[in-house]
Amino acid sequence: MIKLDRGLCPDELNEDVVEELTKLYKEDKEKDVWNSPKIKETLKKALTDMSHNKCAYCECILDIESKDVTIDHFLPKSNNESLVIAWTNLLPSCLRCNRKKNRKEDVIINPCEINPKEHLGIKNNGVRLKAINNSQIGKNTISVVGLNDIDRVMKPRMVVVEKLIDEFEELYEDIIEFDNIPNRYINRCEKYMSEALRDKEYSAVVSAKLLDDATFRAIKQIFIDKNLWNYQLQEIEKELIEIALPII
Ligand SMILES: [Zn+2]
Repeated sequence: MIKLDRGLCPDELNEDVVEELTKLYKEDKEKDVWNSPKIKETLKKALTDMSHNKCAYCECILDIESKDVTIDHFLPKSNNESLVIAWTNLLPSCLRCNRKKNRKEDVIINPCEINPKEHLGIKNNGVRLKAINNSQIGKNTISVVGLNDIDRVMKPRMVVVEKLIDEFEELYEDIIEFDNIPNRYINRCEKYMSEALRDKEYSAVVSAKLLDDATFRAIKQIFIDKNLWNYQLQEIEKELIEIALPII
């Protein structure tokens, strides 16, 4: 889970439309007014743009065409009727996370308002999330959304982490042979590091595991010593540091 910046409310979701659709919902709670043809496409696009096409909770990649992309009501609509179509109460979510959250009342992290890394960390021997200092909102978030669900979340994020670590192992083997490291290896390092940026799946964990990896750190040191740790690599590293959950 990473911090998201909620952009401006799309024009289509203007006051009149909100009023009309909220009224419709209050009259008939079975109506999924957020899927009204008037706004559905624009709303989905605005929300997935905000989340870099990922689920706001588990960070899996969302396919905007698929039925798996859902609009989640951060505060459940059952108890917050007037927020049923409020821009600030809507988050893009995968079907799994949306169902997990359904009607649960525990207070969890809204990634548009709270930086997840203040409450969520990663256990140092794997990819399991853990609440920092027993943070209650951190614990709730992990359990309500199932962020340590082994098959659906932990395994996929482990696969991404291991693939990236493998790539850096190979890069290390390739560059230690050189006194003058050719440019293509700097480009390869840039490409691999980019795989943990905020628009990539499970980036909060992948960036943290990469920054903590001994081989990655050794490569970085070699590049620094040879004056190859260039502006692009530094900029990518800055973003990784910004989104990485602490390892605890
Ligand atoms: Zn999800």
